[in-house]
Amino acid sequence: SSDRKFFVGGNWKMNGDKKMIDGICAFLTKGPINGNTDVVVAAPYCYLQYSRDKLPANVQVAAQNCYKEKEGAFTGEISPLMIKDVGGSWVITGHSERRHVMGESDEFVAEKTRFAQDSGLGVIPCVGEKLEEREANQTMAVINRQMKALADKIKDWSSVVIAYEPVWAIGTGKTASPEQAQEVHEKIREWLKNTVNADVAKKTRIIYGGSVKGSNAAELAKKPDIDGFLVGGASLKPEFIQIINARG
Ligand code: PEP
Repeated sequence: SSDRKFFVGGNWKMNGDKKMIDGICAFLTKGPINGNTDVVVAAPYCYLQYSRDKLPANVQVAAQNCYKEKEGAFTGEISPLMIKDVGGSWVITGHSERRHVMGESDEFVAEKTRFAQDSGLGVIPCVGEKLEEREANQTMAVINRQMKALADKIKDWSSVVIAYEPVWAIGTGKTASPEQAQEVHEKIREWLKNTVNADVAKKTRIIYGGSVKGSNAAELAKKPDIDGFLVGGASLKPEFIQIINARG
């Protein structure tokens, strides 16, 4: 809905080097970027500061993951405070690659979501079903389970943007149809209304991710419960500008 500010995130995943980031920063600087849209790019940890230094001020920086403690003996992990210290203001949690490649549980995702927001970061928790779950009519059972774990921990919904990312649509070129995405977004909003409250349901942005491209973003953006996108592959290319401006 147009009451909720459009939000477009780019998830670079484990791609790029300084040279590639220079190219992305060049097209983001050229824009144009609609001022009514929040734009955030999630860089690999080691390029957070480099990206912040090169990006225009109207693009915020996110990390793709974080740990659930502020410091300590957690070799290889990164704390939300470190993300902030190097210019990040958001973090993605529970991306399907974290859940299904790295084996992160609903509870662990929820714990880091809570800790990141307590540390002052905006958080983009991801939910979504696998193909076999959709085919077994388990889509909402899976999403409601993931949402319940999050809602048990989240206290402040104002810094949360939920990403609905059907696993079968991520990096596959198979986008959910606008109707398929809208159906799930509407049900997530209904779930928020019943489980958290009506105000949170009305205000929380729910963005769609899964093979969003310049060519399909505008149709998806027309749906009333789709408040923006989380974009993988296409966020590395100049067509990302078209996606950012998809609401028109
Ligand atoms: C993602 O990584 O969150 C994603 C949606 O990837 P892609 O756009 O490449 O499907």
